[in-house]
Amino acid sequence: MGYYANPPRSKKTLLKQQIKYMLSQTLGMLINMAIPFEEPLILNYHGICLNEENPRDINDVRYKDFTVQIKLLQALGYKFLSLTEFSEAYKESRLTPAACMITFDDVPRSFIKAAEYLSRDNIPFVVFVCVAHANSDNGNWCRWDDLRKVASFSKAEFGSHSVYHRRLSKVNLEDASKEIEESFQDNPIICTVTFPEASKFPTIIDFPFR
Ligand SMILES: [Zn+2]
Repeated sequence: MGYYANPPRSKKTLLKQQIKYMLSQTLGMLINMAIPFEEPLILNYHGICLNEENPRDINDVRYKDFTVQIKLLQALGYKFLSLTEFSEAYKESRLTPAACMITFDDVPRSFIKAAEYLSRDNIPFVVFVCVAHANSDNGNWCRWDDLRKVASFSKAEFGSHSVYHRRLSKVNLEDASKEIEESFQDNPIICTVTFPEASKFPTIIDFPFR
């Protein structure tokens, strides 16, 4: 479909992505061997790139790599949990290193390709939505209708990724609190999860630039 096509990006973006990929394949692998990771796994994706020569964004993952990563997790026996299941297991101290929660931030429309892939295997995932992105006419972002459609065919749950995608640590406390609250109120598909220690905001936020 048309909106999966990626327009040209600079050589600098391509180079940065190649460096990031090389580091993850070498340094990342060595660190994992030296210090085995024995915690529940939360993976965070953004957009999906279908054209290997032409990544749209530094955070994009190639579709081919994405499917290989998911297949690897399946082969390793990871149990994929939804946001609700993950939160419940966390509250009851039942989380094990085999738990995996897949998340998406921002959310560019190219992510729909990943959502379709995960849904084929009934794998739950979490989508952290920027309210201003979902309200905008910029064709790059999923709008509410796109997200509702994803919700209809998948086991997706939705959280907040703020309203304007600002670095909230640089915003004054009053404005940041207001934006966080608005990002819950103005998000029509947000999932409610209750944490005892966060009863004021019974929803989940994934802070931009964390
Ligand atoms: Zn973000």
